[in-house]
Amino acid sequence: AKPRHTDLLDDLNPAQREAVTHAGAPLLVVAGAGSGKTRVLTRRIAYLLAERDVHPGQIMAITFTNKAAAEMRERVSDLVGRRANAMWVSTFHSMCVRILRREAKTLEMSSSFSIYDSDDTKRLITLVARDLDIDPKKYAARTLAVHISNLKNELVDPETASSNAANDLERRVAEVYVEYQRRLNQANAFDFDDLIMRTVELLQTFPDVAEYYRRRFRHVLVDEYQDTNHAQYTLIRELVGTEPNESGVEPAELCVVGDADQSIYAFRGATIRNIEEFERDFPNARTVLLEQNYRSTQTILSAANGVIARNPNRRAKRLWTDAGDGEKIVGYVADNEHDEAAFVAGEIDALADKGEADYSDVAVFYRTNNQSRVFEEIFIRLGLPYKVVGGVRFYERREVRDMLAYLRVLANPEDTVSLRRVLNVPKRGIGDRAEAVIATYAERERISFAQALRGAVNGEVPLLNPRSAKAITGFVELLDELGEIVESGAEVADILEAVLERTGYRAELEESDDPQDASRVENLTELVTVAREFTEFTAEVAGPEGELPEIDPGVPEPGSLPAFLERVSLVADADSIPAADGGDDGDGHDSGVVTLMTVHTAKGLEYPVVFCTGWEDGIFPHMRALGDPTELAEERRLAYVAITRARKRLYVSRSMVRSAWGQPQMNPASRFLDELPGELVDWRRLAPSPSSGGFGSSGGSPRAATTWGRRGDGTSSPSGSSGTSPFGKGWKDTVALKLDVGDRVSHDKYGLGTVIACDGAGPRATATIDFGAAGKVRLMLIGSVPMVKL
Ligand code: ATP
Ligand code: MG
Repeated sequence: AKPRHTDLLDDLNPAQREAVTHAGAPLLVVAGAGSGKTRVLTRRIAYLLAERDVHPGQIMAITFTNKAAAEMRERVSDLVGRRANAMWVSTFHSMCVRILRREAKTLEMSSSFSIYDSDDTKRLITLVARDLDIDPKKYAARTLAVHISNLKNELVDPETASSNAANDLERRVAEVYVEYQRRLNQANAFDFDDLIMRTVELLQTFPDVAEYYRRRFRHVLVDEYQDTNHAQYTLIRELVGTEPNESGVEPAELCVVGDADQSIYAFRGATIRNIEEFERDFPNARTVLLEQNYRSTQTILSAANGVIARNPNRRAKRLWTDAGDGEKIVGYVADNEHDEAAFVAGEIDALADKGEADYSDVAVFYRTNNQSRVFEEIFIRLGLPYKVVGGVRFYERREVRDMLAYLRVLANPEDTVSLRRVLNVPKRGIGDRAEAVIATYAERERISFAQALRGAVNGEVPLLNPRSAKAITGFVELLDELGEIVESGAEVADILEAVLERTGYRAELEESDDPQDASRVENLTELVTVAREFTEFTAEVAGPEGELPEIDPGVPEPGSLPAFLERVSLVADADSIPAADGGDDGDGHDSGVVTLMTVHTAKGLEYPVVFCTGWEDGIFPHMRALGDPTELAEERRLAYVAITRARKRLYVSRSMVRSAWGQPQMNPASRFLDELPGELVDWRRLAPSPSSGGFGSSGGSPRAATTWGRRGDGTSSPSGSSGTSPFGKGWKDTVALKLDVGDRVSHDKYGLGTVIACDGAGPRATATIDFGAAGKVRLMLIGSVPMVKL
C-alpha cells in the first residue's frame, strides 16, 4: 500500500519535515551527528515516490561506502519495497562504473575495461618509473602515486600537469602521469580516481551524454557531503546542472546532507569547502539546520562536544537531546594491549549476561586495521562471536589477487598489469628477462603487451630464446583454452575452478609443506564460494520476470564474469567487505555478533554500546598528526565520529604499553582523553598493577631514562579533569632518548639517520629523522625506542 503523506512526515521534527518536502532549489542540510540527516535523505526519497509522483528510476542517491549504500538501500526498501531496485543507490565509484560501462566507447575505451585498485596502480607506476629511468630512491612509486592521485582528485589532466609543473618533483610526477595514463588507456583500464575524473570529462565534453543523464536523473541526493573532494563535487554539478541546458532541460533537484565536523577523508582530497560554499556553488540554494540529536544520551553528546570544541575555526553547533544523561562513560587504563582486549571482552560478556546488550549491539573501534588482531585472538579464545569489517582484506591476499588477475585477463585481454602479474605464476619458465624482452618489443612496436606475447608465439620477437618462446606459447594456449570456457557462458565459480585446475596453481599449493600455503588453499576455496554466492545472489535479485530492476545497456550482464569483477573491485575498494562474510548485512547489526572496525568505517552507523580503544598519543591521534595542527584537527574529527556512534554506553580505553615493530612502546594517554569533561567519565582503572612496571628494563635498553611525573609539556587540561585525570597518577612515562636537530642516530629498522626536527616534550616528544633511502620518519621518543644516538 502506498504510504500516506502523514505517515511519512509524522515522526519528523519541523526542520526535518521542511527538508523532506522542500521542492525545487538545491538543498543543503547541515547538522551534527545523529540529528537525522540520513533519515531525512531516505525519507525524502520515499516522499518523492509517494507524494511527488517521481519514478524510482529518476532517483540517484550517493553514499560514501558500500556499507552505507547497502544500508541506505535497505532503509529505502523498508519504506517503499521492491520499487527501490530501480533507483541508483551507490557510492560515487559504483555510479561512475555504471556510467562508464555504458559510455566507454565515447571515451575510446571498451566496456569490458578493468578497474585498477591502489595495488595495481602502484605496480603500473613502478613499471612506468623504471622505464623512464626514474630513481626509485629519490621518487618512490608510492609517492608518485599519491601525487598523481591528488592531481586527479583536482581534475588536473596529464597535459595540464606537465605545463604547470614548476619544480623538479612536479616535472617528474607529470612525466610519469602522462605515461601512466597512456598505459592505462592501452590496458583498457581505469584506476579509482579515473572513475570519477573520466566521468566528469565525459559529461563536460559530450553535452548529449550529459543531457541523457540529466533527463534521466531528476533527483540527486548525496549523504556525507563533507567528504566529497573537488572531482566529486564537479561530478555532482555536471550531473544536476546549475541552469537549463541548450535544449531547455532544467537542472535536476539536488539535496545534500553533511556535517563539517565529521570530515575525515582529507587524505583523499575531501574538503569542507564544498559544504561551506554550497550556496555560492548552487545559486538560490536553501540551507536547513537540524539541532535535535536522536541518537545519544546527553553524556555522550557532551563528551563529543568537549572534544570537537577544541578544533579551531569551526562553526559551533547547538545540538541537544531529550534522551536524558544516561550512563557515565567508562574509562579504563590497561597494562598492555592484551589487557585492554581482555577488558573489552569481559565487559561485553558482562553486558550480555546481565541482558543489557546483545552482541550485535556492540561495536569495538580502533584507529588502524592492524589493531584488530589482539581483539580477534581473545574473542576467539573466549568464544565471543565477532566479525571484523574491513580487517585484513580478503581481496588483498596474494593468492586471491593472483586468481582475480587471471579472471581479469580473461575478461579484458589488454589488461597489462594483470597479465604481467600472472605471466609466470605459477612458475612456467617465463623469466624476468623474457618479460623484459616482450615489454621492450611491445614498446617499440607500440602494441600492447598481450599482442607482443602473441607475436612471440609467431616468432616475431627478436632476442627471445627458444625455451622462453615455447613457454610463452604454452601460456598463450592456456589463456585461449580458458577463454573458450568463458565464451561458453560458464558460471564464474566454474571459470575460477578451471583456472585453479589448469594453471596448476592449486596443485602447487597443495604439494607445498609450508603451512601458509594450506591457508592459501582455504582462501581460494573461499573465493570460489564467493563466486558461487554471487551467481546465486544475482539470480535471486533478478526475481520473477517483470520485476527486473531496470538494466542499462552497458551494465555487465548480471552474473557474468565482468559483473563479478566489477563487484569485487568496488567492494575491495570500500572499507567494507560484505561479500566475503556471506552477503550484505546492511547495517551490520543483524547477525548476533560483535562488530570490530576502524573509526573510518563506522561513519554514519550507530550502536547502543561502543568501545573506543587505543586512545593513546601516537595511536589515536595517529603518530602522523603529532605536531601537525591540520592533521590533528582531522584526528579530532575522527574522535568526534567515534564518540557519536554510541547511543547508550560509551567506553574509552588506552594501554600503557603496546608493541610496535615487535618492541614494546610506552604510549602516553591520548590528548583526546584530556578533552572529555572529567565529570562524565567513571575511571574503572587508572593505574597499572605494580607487577607490570618492568617496562623500563625490557629489552635491556642501554639508553638513559628520564622520568616524568606528570605530562611535562604543559598542555592545558580542561578545568574539570582535576585529580581524576588518567595520567600521571600511578605511573611514569619513560623518555628513552633526548635528541636535537642534527644528531645522528642508528635505528634497528631504518638504519642510519639524521634528526631534522624535534617536536613536543616529555612523553610526547617526537623527532623527525631523515633515514636517507628509507625516507623521513617521525618517531616517538618514549619507551624502548629501537634506536641509539651516535
Ligand atoms: P550521522 O551524522 O552520524 O550520519 P545522521 O544525522 O545521519 O547521523 P541519522 O542516522 O539519520 O542521523 O539518525 C540518527 C538516529 O536518530 C537514527 O536512529 C534515526 O532513526 C533517529 N532519528 C532521526 N530523526 C528522528 C526523529 N525525528 N524521531 C525519532 N528518531 C529519529
Ligand atoms: Mg548519516
